[in-house]
Amino acid sequence: MAMPVPAFDDLAAFAESVSGCTRCALSQGRTQVVFGVGNAHADLMFVGEAPGFHEDKQGIPFVGAAGQLLSKLLAGIGLSRDDVYIANVLKCRPPGNRDPLPEEIAACEGHLFRQLELIRPKVVATLGNFATKLLSGRPYGITRVHGREQVHVIGGQSVLLYPIFHPAAALYTPRMLQVLEADFARIPELLDREPQAPTALQAVAEPEPAPAPVEPEQLGLF
Ligand code: URA
Repeated sequence: MAMPVPAFDDLAAFAESVSGCTRCALSQGRTQVVFGVGNAHADLMFVGEAPGFHEDKQGIPFVGAAGQLLSKLLAGIGLSRDDVYIANVLKCRPPGNRDPLPEEIAACEGHLFRQLELIRPKVVATLGNFATKLLSGRPYGITRVHGREQVHVIGGQSVLLYPIFHPAAALYTPRMLQVLEADFARIPELLDREPQAPTALQAVAEPEPAPAPVEPEQLGLF
């Protein structure tokens, strides 16, 4: 009987196949595809927006200022980047770090969904609006839903989706940093939860209206 292929090999092979992607026009301006980094068996996965300048140059997500804050927040809950997997909605840098376009997300989302299928994380922390809206399939912005875990079935697996602010939004706003730290502090508890069987899943309840936002809706990040 054939041995099951280890997840790492699958992910590495998939990364190789994505490295030459030309599904959208961003392929023309990129230095390289920024596929993702970290533990291919991680229970916790982070999904950001898109590579920025440094990520495009180095081929690794979250290596700039926002990435340094992400590493610090991880250390604050006793984790390192090697314990988790980090990826983005878009695998290529939008010019001038503009927001992803709907057609770019549509072209790229299959890569992210396949990553999720291969890694099978228990908890997916979506960083900011783009990842949250894509993976929740709902239009609610991050200011409204941050810190509120939702059970979803993604790639046939039950996943706890955990929307949090993008670290870039907290770089220069101390109040936002406090919110992000508080949301991060709940991650260990979420990781300890028993996964809910997909059959037991009900439609995720509409989020309660959140209290008035402490900050304006997340704007440009770079
Ligand atoms: N912001 C993101 O969303 N992703 C990165 O990789 C870097 C900054």
